[in-house]
Amino acid sequence: MIATLDLLQRAGRRESGLFWYGERDASGNGTVAFVVAPRQRMSWGKYHVAPEALAEVVQRLPPHWKPLAQIHSHPGPWVEHSRYDDKMVSSRRALSIVFPSYGRALASFPTGAGVHEWQNDYWYLLTLEQASHRLAVVEGTVRVEDYR
Ligand SMILES: [Zn+2]
Repeated sequence: MIATLDLLQRAGRRESGLFWYGERDASGNGTVAFVVAPRQRMSWGKYHVAPEALAEVVQRLPPHWKPLAQIHSHPGPWVEHSRYDDKMVSSRRALSIVFPSYGRALASFPTGAGVHEWQNDYWYLLTLEQASHRLAVVEGTVRVEDYR
């Protein structure tokens, strides 16, 4: 979680996009092993990752690592997907998580973050209770790379 917030905060007052990768177990639960910021355009209210920039990241992944979540920041407290966000999510099997206030530290993740899951043909914003069941913060080290 610290690595994720640090990468978002490094973008300053600009939205930025990141990805979590890692292994999934037989029951579908993933453990994040890699937090990466691909090459991208960033501005106060929008980020854009080109398909080639994402491909650069994916080509270097170990084959057993799957996309677990796509992350991005918003300027203020609003953490719902915009229509643009719906289009920017690269995998419907991963979660899409929006962090408020350009990645300012949260008292207790996922409180305050917007955790979205692809359900019934749209990006559904999970309730805090649902999000808490889907995500757990665990101790451990992750690989971190910043291509921006
Ligand atoms: Zn957004």
